[in-house]
Amino acid sequence: MKFCSHCGNPVTQRTPEGDSRLRFVCDSCQTIHYQNPNIVAGCVPTWGTKVLLCRRAIEPRLGYWTLPAGFMENGETIEQAAVRETAEEACARVRNLSIYTLIDVPHISQVHVFFRAELVDLDFAAGPESLEVQLFDEADIPWDELAFRTVGRTLECFFADRRIEAYPVRSESIPPLAQPVII
Ligand SMILES: [Zn+2]
Repeated sequence: MKFCSHCGNPVTQRTPEGDSRLRFVCDSCQTIHYQNPNIVAGCVPTWGTKVLLCRRAIEPRLGYWTLPAGFMENGETIEQAAVRETAEEACARVRNLSIYTLIDVPHISQVHVFFRAELVDLDFAAGPESLEVQLFDEADIPWDELAFRTVGRTLECFFADRRIEAYPVRSESIPPLAQPVII
């Protein structure tokens, strides 16, 4: 960050009085620009035994498969964000959402939250951010071509939990990779 979004003058990094972290502070209007983690919300959309995945048409991880998910917007609930992202990326409608995985990704300051959800119908299609959208049985999941570790972890949990027909909320965190190529 170089300039103040409030007044347009330069900002510098310093620790405000009473604070313990470096912040961007405006030299002119003294506004402190806090930067906090972003929340990514998504769904595990199911139809019978199958799960809906999207192949990404955008970077990062273009061409890799993901659960429909994206950044929460201001003014919406996390469940609304998950439903909206599923509509945008997979042109799909979901119902009966249940919060499922809550995965901290502290090295990139994100929290990924996935809901289990039922597809309302089979009327889905690739949205502008997807190359294709497809239902997968567990045996056909493209494990080596998943876009993000939080997606892989959520799918692992989902298929393991399905065997015991119980889906406790999973709260986990993902450490950085030695050579960070994917989050
Ligand atoms: Zn300012």
